[in-house]
Amino acid sequence: MAGIDIEGLATVYPNGVRAVDGLDLHVADGEFFALLGPSGCGKTTLLRTIAGLEPATEGTVRIDAADVTRTEPGKRGVAMVFQDYALFPHMNVSENITYPLKVRRVAMATRTATAERTAGELSLQGLLERKPAQLSGGQQQRVALARAIASQGKVLLLDEPLSNLDARLRLEARTFLKKLQRDLGITTVFVTHDQAEALALADRIAVMESGKLRQLGSPREVFARPANTFVANFIGSTPMNLLPGTVAAATGEVGAVSVAGGSLPATTVSVPADAEVTVGIRPEYLTVASGDVTGPALRGVVVVAENLGTQSLVTVDCDGTLVGVTVPEETEPSPGTAVVLTAPASRVLLYDRDSGELLA
Ligand code: ATP
Repeated sequence: MAGIDIEGLATVYPNGVRAVDGLDLHVADGEFFALLGPSGCGKTTLLRTIAGLEPATEGTVRIDAADVTRTEPGKRGVAMVFQDYALFPHMNVSENITYPLKVRRVAMATRTATAERTAGELSLQGLLERKPAQLSGGQQQRVALARAIASQGKVLLLDEPLSNLDARLRLEARTFLKKLQRDLGITTVFVTHDQAEALALADRIAVMESGKLRQLGSPREVFARPANTFVANFIGSTPMNLLPGTVAAATGEVGAVSVAGGSLPATTVSVPADAEVTVGIRPEYLTVASGDVTGPALRGVVVVAENLGTQSLVTVDCDGTLVGVTVPEETEPSPGTAVVLTAPASRVLLYDRDSGELLA
C-alpha cells in the first residue's frame, strides 16, 4: 500500500498548454480519491503524469515515498485502467487478466491461479475463456479492472472508469467498484467529470479548473461548503442558487443578507456591513414556510415546478430573480402561488462578489 505525494507539479504540452499548472496534492494510503472537473480542466493529464505516460515539466511525483518523477511507467508500481478498457481483442479473459504477469515472466501456474482468484473477486467466474467481443460492457470493464488488480501495483489509476456504461449498469458498477476498493484497500485515484459519481464514490475529491486545484475535501465538505462559486456551480445535481446580495448590519453572530425578494439569515461576523456579496444557497436547504415568518425570508411567486422523483424542484420568481427550492413531491405548489422561503443561517454562504471565494 502506498500514498501519492505531488509537489509543484506542472505538465506542459509541446503546444504550450499548461494542462496541469502548479499542483500540490497528497493522496493517503488506501484512499479512494477523485479528480473532478469540467472537460479540459487537466484531470486526465494529471492522472497520466502520475502514471508516467506524460512527462512532468515541473515538480515531483512520489509514490510510497519514492521519487518517481523520472521513472518509466512500468517501474512506478501503478496500474491504470483506461476509459476504453484497452483489452487485447485476440486474447481471452484469462490471458487479458494475466498479461502484466506474463510480461514479467511469472510462471504459468501462478498466472492461472491469479486469473482464477481475480476473476472470483470481480464476479467473472465462468467467463475466463471468452474473448472481449463476447462480453457485455460491464463485464469488459471488470476485466480491465481485474487486469489492473492482478498486476499488483501499489496504486490504481482509473480514467473515467464508468463512462462507457449505460445508466443502469453504471449504478451497479459504481456500487461494485466502491465495495471492491474498500475490500482491497488499494490507493485509488479516479478521474471523472460526473460530480454525482465523485460524491458517491470518493473519500476525498479534488475539484480542478484550468489545471489548478479549486477545492480539496470530503464529498460532504465540497457539497455543503464549496470554497468558491466555481465549485458551487459544479457540485450538486440541482445547481446552487447564487444571488447578488448586500450584508445587512449584524447584530451578534447571526446577521442577515439582503437579496431580491427579501433577505436571508447569514453568519456575517467576518463580513463588514454593506459588503456586496454573492449569496450561495442550495435548493435543498431552502424551505417553503407554511405559517407566518418573522425572521429574514424571501418572498416570491412560483413560476414552474419540475418533478425529480420523490422531490420537486420549484422555481420561484423573487422580484425578478429566479430562485430554486426543492420540496417533497406531494407538497409541490402550483404556478402562480405566492410563497415565503426560509433557510437556516448555517446553510447560507457568502462569497466575495469579485473573486468568488468563500467569505463566510
Ligand atoms: P476531458 O474530461 O475532456 O478528458 P480533462 O479534464 O481530462 O478533459 P485533459 O485531457 O487533461 O483534460 O486536457 C487538459 C488540456 O490539455 C486541454 O486544454 C487539452 O486540450 C490539452 N491537451 C490534452 N492532451 C493534449 C496533447 N496531447 N497535446 C496538446 N494539448 C493537449
